[in-house]
Amino acid sequence: MKNYVVQLLGWTSEAAENLNQDPKKWAVFLIGPPGSGKGTQADLLAERFGLVHIQTSKLGEAKINDSELIKNDPEVAEVKRLYDKGELFPPPWTVKIVLEKAQELADKEQGTIFSGSPRTIYEVEQELPYFENLYGKENIKVVNIKINEEESIIRNSSRRVCKASGHPIPNFEKFKNILVCPQDGSEIITRGLDTPETIKTRNEVYHRRTEPIFNFLEKSGYKVIEINGEQSIENVFKDILQEISKS
Ligand SMILES: [Zn+2]
Repeated sequence: MKNYVVQLLGWTSEAAENLNQDPKKWAVFLIGPPGSGKGTQADLLAERFGLVHIQTSKLGEAKINDSELIKNDPEVAEVKRLYDKGELFPPPWTVKIVLEKAQELADKEQGTIFSGSPRTIYEVEQELPYFENLYGKENIKVVNIKINEEESIIRNSSRRVCKASGHPIPNFEKFKNILVCPQDGSEIITRGLDTPETIKTRNEVYHRRTEPIFNFLEKSGYKVIEINGEQSIENVFKDILQEISKS
């Protein structure tokens, strides 16, 4: 059992084996509000279809923490300076690093899945033509995981992650007693930053800035797969599998 999410879920080795089949040259955009479980689902889908799971925030953080790159690339140095002041990554830079990564993966005939990206109309407008060119429109899949705000607040106010890599520990009864990360064995910590107010703000930003991209994608001829995220991890995953195979 390679996948730590699969380990967490306690699936049989047979079920885990069945996951790892049928590689696809897809580009999947998995989008949902904070706490929708998109990271976990992206990991499962990555395993199932042989996709590389990309989190834009981690992609950016890797660049600004690379001291060689900071020395040689003034743009990265500037992004780091802003980031250290508490600012978000500049949208044009986000687009640039996403497209660089997409190109690199497409060159290797490698499918990919983005969780929580694109985040804005600006991003999707800039990125979509490139993705269509690299992957073909029919291989671009868009999944909208929906949960209501109350559920989002409950899930985010006790968010547990591992200390070493930030692997999320899903907020379900059966994971309650896990003390170390099943993937790397590091300690599990509770993030105390997500107060109900913070989560409300993040949800508001999501509704205002991210949700309009579904409309944009539908107008551009895409089918947006809508999934009820207020179910167990297994059932959300089953629903996505069923819908994504039809699309
Ligand atoms: Zn971990």
